[in-house]
Amino acid sequence: MALKVAIIGRPNVGKSTLFNRLTGTKHALVDDTPGVTRDRREGDGRIADLNFRIVDTAGLEDAQDDSLEGRMRRQTEAAVQQADLVFMMIDARAGVTPLDAHFADWLRRVKVPVTVLANKCEGRGGIAGLSEAYKLGLGDPVPISAEHGEGMGELYDIIRARIEADPVLAAELYAEDEEDPFPEEVLDGVDLDEADLEEDAILQDRGPKGPLKLAIVGRPNVGKSTLINRLLGEDRLLTGPEAGITRDSIEIPWSYKGREIHLIDTAGLRRKARVVEKLERMSTTDSMRAVRFAQVVMLVLDGEQMLEKQDLAIARTVLDQGRALIIAVNKWDAVADKNAAGQRLRDRLDTSLAQVRGIPWIAVSALRGSNLDKLLDAVFDIYDVWNTRVPTSRLNRWLERMVDQHPPPLSKGRRLRLRYMTQVKARPPTFAAFVSQADELPESYVRYLIGGLRDEFGLAGVPIRVNLRKRR
Ligand code: GDP
Ligand code: GDP
Repeated sequence: MALKVAIIGRPNVGKSTLFNRLTGTKHALVDDTPGVTRDRREGDGRIADLNFRIVDTAGLEDAQDDSLEGRMRRQTEAAVQQADLVFMMIDARAGVTPLDAHFADWLRRVKVPVTVLANKCEGRGGIAGLSEAYKLGLGDPVPISAEHGEGMGELYDIIRARIEADPVLAAELYAEDEEDPFPEEVLDGVDLDEADLEEDAILQDRGPKGPLKLAIVGRPNVGKSTLINRLLGEDRLLTGPEAGITRDSIEIPWSYKGREIHLIDTAGLRRKARVVEKLERMSTTDSMRAVRFAQVVMLVLDGEQMLEKQDLAIARTVLDQGRALIIAVNKWDAVADKNAAGQRLRDRLDTSLAQVRGIPWIAVSALRGSNLDKLLDAVFDIYDVWNTRVPTSRLNRWLERMVDQHPPPLSKGRRLRLRYMTQVKARPPTFAAFVSQADELPESYVRYLIGGLRDEFGLAGVPIRVNLRKRR
């Protein structure tokens, strides 16, 4: 059972346009003539990772007679009754009409939650209508542009909040959440067959698997849009000094040196900013969202500002979620003292993201298009490292040396035995270590192992996981 959203409103406000956008049926009929009647349409809607059912109710014919209310109910009642959430749409360019007010009166009495969407708000054309819409008494109206895809981030939040408020719907949401869009690749070797130790000769494998999914994130104004435009070599996103320009495309397929890469467009999930103070927080939220869809996350920094608290929060999320991180230090053209800036960044990385040594960073200028090849090469390099698989035999020869050099400590008078390791997953590299008493092995020893893995198998810059298991 999926959440059901009904879009209602008088004719010509843009209901079909929104329906088409959310269902991805771009070419369905959109008629400019008011009063075109049609059946109710229902389809599968989607914004980013949210799936829901969406119903587009027929527009109400322009009618002045006293059957108005009755007809309005007939047309929309069924849809509204069956819905979990209602979007009441107005045309913000036309302002609030008596018919809109009529809908609102009726909707205030239904039990289903209602959100007013002020459509056609692209540019500045809808501002007057938007403020009128507050008077409908249905809460804060949300400015959107169904045609241009603006405000989809707001709709995402509204739909998601509604799903989360309903235990049944929410259970499904989380079930889907658990389904990682990029499941870590489960490798052979969990089976503790001693034969594993014999098997050799297999080289360390860093084979890329399918298209690389890249998200480009960062605070407003660091130059993300400029960079994406440069990378794609065409004007796919708008850039400008005003943060918060939106678009709802989610993945842009593309290729680089014959390899497939999908760009996750986080700007598309960015809400139309109305309140300047909210900007910072919103952009971080959007970045966090994008991380889920990406394998490699490029954190763009402004070379003159460098890793601030928010940047670090994003970076930590990326690593905690097991994604590969790469840092693009943008606006390098404008950095006066490049040595000092580089040193400052290295220090910040060493002190604040110390758990993952070797996070790659590349200084670029999106504006001038410099160093972008190097940046993309580094993206593919880190992706390959993230995909690394280490054969069990190599791993255990290395482990033997590690244990010789620095044996695990004593526990209750007995030495902990750490005899076997195997890589259970790639993306990110994840290892199981079998210990005589798993819960006794100190954290510092695990860090010693992780450091050793990083050096020995060239795993710089990617998160590494080591799970301790009790040896059979
Ligand atoms: P419906 O009758 O409510 O389903 O409205 P439609 O979706 O058929 O749209 C009516 C008209 O409004 C069409 O000409 C659309 O192109 C136009 N329209 C829809 N959304 C927008 C928008 O966001 N901005 C502008 N400027 N026009 C829009
Ligand atoms: P976004 O909010 O992160 O998408 O940032 P934009 O791409 O909109 O860029 C914000 C501002 O920074 C714009 O005025 C850009 O022209 C400027 N900008 C972007 N990249 C560079 C760069 O490499 N060097 C300089 N000097 N300015 C840049």
